[in-house]
Amino acid sequence: MALARNAAVVRKYQTQGIEFAIHGYRHIDHSQLSVEEQNAHFQKAIQIFAEEGIDCKGFRCPYLRWNEATLAALSQNGLAYDSSNSLVWAIDQRHCTDSYYRALEFYGAQPASDYLALPKFNAGQNLVRIPYCLPDDESLIERLIWDSPAEMNQVWPTMFQEIHQRGELFNLGLHPERTYDCADSLEATMRQVQAVATEVWRAPLKEIATWWKNRYQAEVEITDVETNKFRLTVNGPPGATVLLRSVESHTATKPWFDGYQQAVESPCLIQTNKRPFIGISPASSPDLTSFLKQQGYIVEISSQADLYPFYLDRPTFSPEQEQPLDAEINRGSFPLVRLGRWPNGAKSAFCVTGDIDAITVWDYGLRFVGY
Ligand SMILES: [Zn+2]
Repeated sequence: MALARNAAVVRKYQTQGIEFAIHGYRHIDHSQLSVEEQNAHFQKAIQIFAEEGIDCKGFRCPYLRWNEATLAALSQNGLAYDSSNSLVWAIDQRHCTDSYYRALEFYGAQPASDYLALPKFNAGQNLVRIPYCLPDDESLIERLIWDSPAEMNQVWPTMFQEIHQRGELFNLGLHPERTYDCADSLEATMRQVQAVATEVWRAPLKEIATWWKNRYQAEVEITDVETNKFRLTVNGPPGATVLLRSVESHTATKPWFDGYQQAVESPCLIQTNKRPFIGISPASSPDLTSFLKQQGYIVEISSQADLYPFYLDRPTFSPEQEQPLDAEINRGSFPLVRLGRWPNGAKSAFCVTGDIDAITVWDYGLRFVGY
């Protein structure tokens, strides 16, 4: 109903490149709702968006509170992404209040030191989950205590630097009603982003979700030209990039980050002493294969472990093992060919999103046009 009242304004922002998404038909705790109830809420919300001519591809739960039924209902309603799960960056405890710790528990936030701040595609549900980064504006202003504004204004830029270095996604949260209080924080962050502008992919959540799914589904055609000499052709979304480590390339490359070269020609022709892909035993978990492909690794299921410089046999694989495995692969110096996580060789990704609670029905992903 609130969307209906404000539809003209929303349509105007939409034409400026700002994405709008569902934030619940009502601003309530979805973790307490059944799949049938959530289905009914999403159907009503989608209908309102459609009637008002507002494009809508995703959802964020009020209070970041979701349950498995939320994901099932989003999937059943054909939505492309959910951005309700959250990761929290460590803040020195002298700044933290009980209210901050309670909020983190209420959100179910997981530590960013143990998990990758990256989307995750669930093929069965055809749904991408994009984690939300904490502390957000509400935590900075209302739940953390600072000796000076300058101290607070350092938090997001520091998070950005770490996320950029890790090559992940900063999904920054900002409610419009706190824009003024957070203006200096946001500006300091945007300066950091701007300083490495060509290395950061800035996009709204719907583009991030689409990219992640399409890049995951990209096919890398590997032709064995002769022993240990391979030709690679990528059949994937525009912007898909091949990265090379510790291999000899017969086609042009340019330096990338973290010991990788970026292929600038397609197809690319490479030579190594072993197959520079990740070998996986046939008994390994499909979750392992899915995870590795989502990071851009090229996976070959094979029982010949000796063909590969890095070979995994893991019949079980849990989310807690994702970050340590990715770190292990990246710490190594063995020959490796992979796809870059982000388009056009970007190292990290950045997105500003906010909950519009004042007009209660939805949420928007704010794209900083021109940055
Ligand atoms: Zn909200």
